[in-house]
Amino acid sequence: MNEQATKLIKNMLTVLDNCVDIIPGDGDGVQDDIQALNLAITALEKQIPKKIYHKTWADIDGVPYDLCPNCENNLCTTGLLANRKGKYCSDCGQKLDWEESE
Ligand SMILES: [Zn+2]
Repeated sequence: MNEQATKLIKNMLTVLDNCVDIIPGDGDGVQDDIQALNLAITALEKQIPKKIYHKTWADIDGVPYDLCPNCENNLCTTGLLANRKGKYCSDCGQKLDWEESE
């Protein structure tokens, strides 16, 4: 569903991009629309769950850290003060897919 919406918006973006050159004037309104659509794409793409990214730091006894696949924020799910595995990254709002790491 979100993949479809993202594809649709990307198509609209392509159309708008092509229009900029043929619209009389400075095309400021179209530029605003393009910016709004880009924001919409970013928001929609964050709704598509992405697999957690594991990173092992040599000095942490080989315990893999769970990182956000979008911004690489440490999700802090290991150690004494471990957070619960949330549905979204608290930093960038990326929807998270924990399936493989359970
Ligand atoms: Zn993130």
